[in-house]
Amino acid sequence: MRLANELYRDSAVTAPSSSPTSAISSVSPGAPDTFAGIPGGVPGTAGSRSIFPDSFAAFPTEKPDNPGLAGGYPLATTTAHAPIHADQVEALGPPGSGNALDSGAHQQDSNEVYPFGEPRCNGSFRAREAYADTVESSPLFYFLREGDSRTGLRGQEPQAGPPLSGLEVDTIRKDFPVLHQRVHGHPLIWFDNAATTQKPRSVIDATSRFYSRDNSNIHRAAHALAARATELYEGGREKVRRFIGAADTKEIVFVRGTTEAINLVAQTYGRTHIGRGDEILLTVMEHHANIVPWQFLAEQTGAVLRVAPINDAGELVLEQFVPLLGPRTKLVAVTHVSNALGTINPVETIIGMAHAAGVPVLVDGAQSAPHFPVNVQAMDCDFFVFSGHKIFGPTGIGVLYGKAALLEGMPPYQGGGNMISDVTFEKTTYQGIPQKFEAGTPDIAGVVGLGAAIDYLSSLGMPAIAAYEHELLEYATQALSSIRGLRPIGTAAVKASVLSFVMDGLSNELVGRHLDRYGIAVRSGHHCAQPAVRRFGLEGTVRPSLAFYNTRDEIDVLVRALHDLRRR
Ligand code: PLP
Repeated sequence: MRLANELYRDSAVTAPSSSPTSAISSVSPGAPDTFAGIPGGVPGTAGSRSIFPDSFAAFPTEKPDNPGLAGGYPLATTTAHAPIHADQVEALGPPGSGNALDSGAHQQDSNEVYPFGEPRCNGSFRAREAYADTVESSPLFYFLREGDSRTGLRGQEPQAGPPLSGLEVDTIRKDFPVLHQRVHGHPLIWFDNAATTQKPRSVIDATSRFYSRDNSNIHRAAHALAARATELYEGGREKVRRFIGAADTKEIVFVRGTTEAINLVAQTYGRTHIGRGDEILLTVMEHHANIVPWQFLAEQTGAVLRVAPINDAGELVLEQFVPLLGPRTKLVAVTHVSNALGTINPVETIIGMAHAAGVPVLVDGAQSAPHFPVNVQAMDCDFFVFSGHKIFGPTGIGVLYGKAALLEGMPPYQGGGNMISDVTFEKTTYQGIPQKFEAGTPDIAGVVGLGAAIDYLSSLGMPAIAAYEHELLEYATQALSSIRGLRPIGTAAVKASVLSFVMDGLSNELVGRHLDRYGIAVRSGHHCAQPAVRRFGLEGTVRPSLAFYNTRDEIDVLVRALHDLRRR
């Protein structure tokens, strides 16, 4: 498995420049170090490679003086900590019985801890069925049943884990209050990071401080708090600009999240530049947020969606992507990292090929921005979108980056206050970019929190985060391979963060609920990427997904819990 930073360097070497034909030949046999899936490319599937300091040369410099960073960044060294295997696992009793999963946690209230009744059963078929039934009928999970929209869960208390190379994770974990709680009597293990990430104290405090001290609407009033709030909001824009390496703050538009950003591009750029018979090129591994807005556009305009296939490992098949890039292609919209499979797409190569054909590219960065350095100028994408809540910031705030020339040519998305320059009943003129796209009062506190999240990530260093998570992912991949009947889904040579799998004979929901009983939060289901999951003949997977505050010890607990489930 290769590290994102390496790819960044490699793809910069191999990105094609002139025509589609030359684009293909530039990634053909003889190319120095290309991606699996590229014709003649070097698959590079086995094991991790060492990472060289120059891998990071292209990235914006990060502060090396972060207290959570051991000896500056990076780098990954192989650790002596071996994953556990089936034969090392003791028979596990129920949570709280002092079993191997029980790191000292003891339940006070057995009804709360065992919402499904006594969980241990003897492994017979009937016992397994009964276990599944009790889990599946639990009222705790009403929200998994269609039509039931009540909300609310619970938990409380602390725990920490050992460091891998690069980051002082014990120290880092102290920054995340939510991690210090017990769920069903066990320390919470948050492996649902692809859905949303937890927030460091600095983000929580920045948001709270804004409302306690600085709250005002922005841009319009001549008073002290308006000036402060405006400064914080526009300061947040500058932090985002630096975080993704954009040329100018006017290229940074605040939106609600990735979903809104893609809808905005579809309804403004798309409605202006894409018409009947034109084609929008996607991949099978897109999140629904990067499918449905294009379907709306296709319905509205008569445009057509083209979909590039993926192989059995979950990698984009570039040989088949290239011919889909035809004379009618008006936009490529591709995810940087698949939320269901973990695949890191060779976006620089894709962008090079698309540009050679005169086609702009939107990159869905929802799952890349949290995990490795992103530089939109080096990538040369036309649009880049991501969500604040997936980069340890608040929900309800996200970013659309667009090249200035493109944004300037796009009509506004919504009309209202803040985005106008002059209004009469006869005619309205608009602000320039980015305000033209920010109608109404924005999520000012959200931007403040997002800025604090970016400060936090910058203090750790995105290269160090990438290196740490890469080690953790490799460790987890190996550890999960010890579980009988576990089939990994998404085995790309180049991956980030995600460990999707299914288990023979067990529903994904059952596995998810079993893990929850040990305080382990994973996602089970289709992950809003149904075409990707169906490509593997499935309707869903179980998906643990990692972040830099996760540890090997947590992975060991996950693996033991899965061995335990298998034994039942
Ligand atoms: N794209 C990808 C790859 C995602 O993983 C997600 C969320 O999981 C989205 C888009 C949508 O993000 P949001 O719900 O924050 O708008």
